[in-house]
Amino acid sequence: MNKAKRLEILTRLRDDNPNPTTELNFTTPFELLIAVLLSAQATDVGVNKATAKLYPVANTPQAILDLGLDGLKSYIKTIGLFNTKAVNTMKTCQMLVDLHGGEVPENRAALEALPGVGRKTANVVLNTAFGWPTIAVDTHIYRVSNRTKLAMGKTVDDVEQKLLKVVPKDFKVDVHHWLILHGRYTCVARKPKCGACIIEDLCEFKDKVE
Ligand code: SF4
Repeated sequence: MNKAKRLEILTRLRDDNPNPTTELNFTTPFELLIAVLLSAQATDVGVNKATAKLYPVANTPQAILDLGLDGLKSYIKTIGLFNTKAVNTMKTCQMLVDLHGGEVPENRAALEALPGVGRKTANVVLNTAFGWPTIAVDTHIYRVSNRTKLAMGKTVDDVEQKLLKVVPKDFKVDVHHWLILHGRYTCVARKPKCGACIIEDLCEFKDKVE
């Protein structure tokens, strides 16, 4: 895909949604970190339902530690893989208290050292809580980037590196939200809604569905 087309795709996505953000509900970097940690292989809606009850009771590392493992599980048991996520959340809270004064560090290495926090979660937190131009590539971004040919790659890491290289500076902070939302609602996995797609004429996917 050439540069001009790429720019036009990004411009249209931006014009359509000038201030995109995550669909996970949060009010602090810590709330976002835990919501992202809980969202692996789960829906944002499911996570929001659980955190709507959890956060009014406990929205700091110490408060979650005070709930205890079973106490935390009682709030998140509707979320897939909740046992593992609960253990990781407790360990993460302990590390935040012990090493970072109870705050979420604005630092990639420190974030990735937290249990249950990988590169993608660190990218989301750095981007959405702290405004860094990081691009967290999930399954939606991977699919949209490859289908459209905006940024092709065999792995999510390849696509992330490609996007970081080809997306102009002005679009970097928000591009991951635009692509996730496009993948979640329009360029869906099984039957993309090409007939209703605002970048249909620019997309280079060979098997468009009308
Ligand atoms: S035209 Fe179809 S395949 Fe291309 S981005 Fe739009 S929905 Fe996805």
